[in-house]
Amino acid sequence: MLDTHSGLWDQCLRKIEGKIEADTYGTWFAQTSSSHLDARLAHIEVPTSFFVDWLEEHWLDLIRTTIEEITSWTPEIRISVKKNAPASPGAPLDFSTSDGSAAPKKPAAPMKPVVPGPVSEAVFPLNPRYRFEDFIVGESNQFSFTAAKSVAESPGATSYNPLVIYSGVGLGKTHLLQAIADHCVRNGTARRVVYTSAEKFFTDYLKAIQKKDTSAYIEIYRNADVLLIDDIQFYVKTEACQRELLHTFNTLYQLNKQIVLSSDRPPSTLKGFEDRLISRFQWGLVTDIDRPDLETRMAIINQKAGDHGVRIPPEVARFMAEQIDSNIRELEGALTHLITYSVYKRAPVSLRIARDTIKSLGRVKSITSPPISIREIQKRTAGYFNISVDMLTGATRRQEIATARHICMYLCRRLTQAPLKSIGSEFGNRDHTTVIHACKNIATRLSSDPDFEAHVSQIQNRVQQFASA
Ligand code: ADP
Ligand code: MG
Repeated sequence: MLDTHSGLWDQCLRKIEGKIEADTYGTWFAQTSSSHLDARLAHIEVPTSFFVDWLEEHWLDLIRTTIEEITSWTPEIRISVKKNAPASPGAPLDFSTSDGSAAPKKPAAPMKPVVPGPVSEAVFPLNPRYRFEDFIVGESNQFSFTAAKSVAESPGATSYNPLVIYSGVGLGKTHLLQAIADHCVRNGTARRVVYTSAEKFFTDYLKAIQKKDTSAYIEIYRNADVLLIDDIQFYVKTEACQRELLHTFNTLYQLNKQIVLSSDRPPSTLKGFEDRLISRFQWGLVTDIDRPDLETRMAIINQKAGDHGVRIPPEVARFMAEQIDSNIRELEGALTHLITYSVYKRAPVSLRIARDTIKSLGRVKSITSPPISIREIQKRTAGYFNISVDMLTGATRRQEIATARHICMYLCRRLTQAPLKSIGSEFGNRDHTTVIHACKNIATRLSSDPDFEAHVSQIQNRVQQFASA
């Protein structure tokens, strides 16, 4: 009797095979069987619960119509996991959907048992300076930090898979990725932790291909419990490389292994990646790191100075933090200069020494240019759009006014030191999350729309010209 059931299902499979791409068939149907198929019930068995979700979500109609075509029956369709079905790690799987977008709905992963520490390893060396303990948390990076910590504590067991952190240069992406890796290894929350740059991930692949032996490569990357790939925007995007990244991603994802990526821009605006990769990058959590506010920059200066065994007077920390507001790497560089300069001058770190340091670095902007106020930015932006400031900051939701308002919020964020809360309150008492949302919208549009970028730069120029007039 069983033979009849499976024989019928085999006929259905042959029909399905003719209807869809060979790869897709190989991935989703080749390993299925049927233990029961009659007019009332079609029981289809698959290797893992992941397949159950995926088939139910994407292929139920195809299964139903094919059974009907072969048997003229319209039975209830039940899909379940085959008893004792082995998982197949390392198999190249293609999860692409017809629309290439939606993430497979994965069953909630069970909390992982903590693996004892000594067996955990970082496959490539990590920088010991990049730990969570050394990361100063402020409004600009709080969300990314919290997400990174959750992932490090329960890799693969949160909905943050993949976790994608993006920001401009020098704002802490590498630090956070390595801190996750370090935490997993030191606390034994994962066994094999692989932190790599996208560039290395690619060159390792290239070498493996040249040697005509990819086994060592696959052994490293597809057996990772946590795979962290830094600066994904630098990944070389030939067709073969994209396929490789896709396979690695799919394999790890299916096995509930943790994937963490960093990028210099939101995944949706990454250039040259296939849509199905971009959509995978967005399956979990995408979070950004903003420029740190003044207090955070001061805290970072104090911490880094402490690492050098130097104490920085508060007014000097404030001065340095005011001068260098764009990126933390630069801030660190300036601090190193400051300390070296004070040693060279045999004088304690002082405001004077700090001024000289900043001058020698050619960074004198805020010493000479007066601060720009939110009100000025509003006036210039409203002028540009030929509307009143009241309208700009008011309640109207008309698209063009809302866009002008968002641009203005974005410029206030960029050009002033004002905290998000103050910016929100200057725009009709809006909440700080509205400001965050507006800034994100504008940043995304700027990276993908050159005309839009030209408008925003013109407004910014007007604001700055006025401020320095
Ligand atoms: P990115 O990868 O985004 O270019 P990095 O992670 O390399 O930036 O950070 C640049 C430098 O700034 C590193 O030395 C890093 O330790 C430091 N840094 C960044 N963010 C913080 C922070 N929040 N607290 C302390 N140091 C930080
Ligand atoms: Mg980096």
